[in-house]
Amino acid sequence: MSDDAVSQSHVRLRDVLAQLPDYKPGKPAAAPPGMTAYKLSSNENPYGPLPSVLKAVEEAAATLNRYPDMAVAALTQRLAQALDVPAECVATGTGSVAVLGQIVEAACDAGDEVVFAWRSFEAYPIVTQLVGAQPVTVGLAADGRHRLDAMAAAVTDRTRVVLVCTPNNPTGPAVHTDELERFIAAVPDDVVVVVDEAYVEFVRDHDAVRGLEVWRNHSNVVVLRTFSKAYGLAGLRVGFAVAHPPVAAAIRRTATPFGVNSLAQAAAIASLDAVDELTERVESIVAERDRVVQGLVDQGWQLPQTEANFVWFPLGEESTAFSQACEAAGLVVRQYGDDGVRVTIGEPEANSRVLEVAEQFGAR
Ligand SMILES: *Cc1c(COP(=O)(O)O)cnc(C)c1O
Repeated sequence: MSDDAVSQSHVRLRDVLAQLPDYKPGKPAAAPPGMTAYKLSSNENPYGPLPSVLKAVEEAAATLNRYPDMAVAALTQRLAQALDVPAECVATGTGSVAVLGQIVEAACDAGDEVVFAWRSFEAYPIVTQLVGAQPVTVGLAADGRHRLDAMAAAVTDRTRVVLVCTPNNPTGPAVHTDELERFIAAVPDDVVVVVDEAYVEFVRDHDAVRGLEVWRNHSNVVVLRTFSKAYGLAGLRVGFAVAHPPVAAAIRRTATPFGVNSLAQAAAIASLDAVDELTERVESIVAERDRVVQGLVDQGWQLPQTEANFVWFPLGEESTAFSQACEAAGLVVRQYGDDGVRVTIGEPEANSRVLEVAEQFGAR
């Protein structure tokens, strides 16, 4: 825009916008000449959409002149059936990030507090501050796990929401059932406890919590799930919550009308219909994860236990050097300042290259 009078607008915007941390999307893949690049920076599924899902999307595209079903009825029913919960307990949104924002918006007035671990999912401080609420962060343990007892101690009478990320993005460990039960018992039952299970399909730790089982017995628990990771639909933006009816209704009230578009609704239903094929793909990703983890252990690395589709390298000030080494090998990874580097499990060739880079870098 050339006209200064226009570009230097004097409209009043909320101060909080200038204070929000930016959500940093994973960078696109870029490779040195002659080398295939791999994007391992956004925890995406390396597999493209299933043919049956593409077909459902193509069919849905024929009615793009119409608004989507605002109630998302068919998908909600299908999810309720798949999860064995009442349909009134399912609320969808444009990705689970949006659903999370709706929960915070529904629960928090300005000055209320939202407790979560740090580091954790970078959307947490953003959705919290956006509604004028106060983030209260509790540092992770050295092994990348939530310190749930410390989080319970951080709850005050201003706390409206607690966010529990299991497995934790970006560090990888899953919260255990006994820990979460003890935590819920210690927190007042008018505080919403969100169990963010974006990666639950990749969890193999037998002690790991299954959010739905906990949800059934606690009226303040909300389970957050997504089609973006294991289901491979990150580009379509659809996620959902399982919540008790008043909370589910509040999530619907705070939704953007017609947000979940018709292609996303169709693709999500087709994905639930193709659960066997998708489960096979998840198994392959888990097998690749295990291969990478074993390779790293053999090299002498000591890393947090990952239950997700990524590995966390807590490299401190060496993070930049490691992520540059990855980049030089055609691997785009996600660096978190001087905390560490998160590397998504991708195509087998990409994963093998991760192991080569890690070996050359030297175990820590
Ligand atoms: C990726 C991710 C999500 C899912 O985001 P969508 O908006 O559903 O794509 C939610 N929570 C965590 C912790 C994640 O890593």
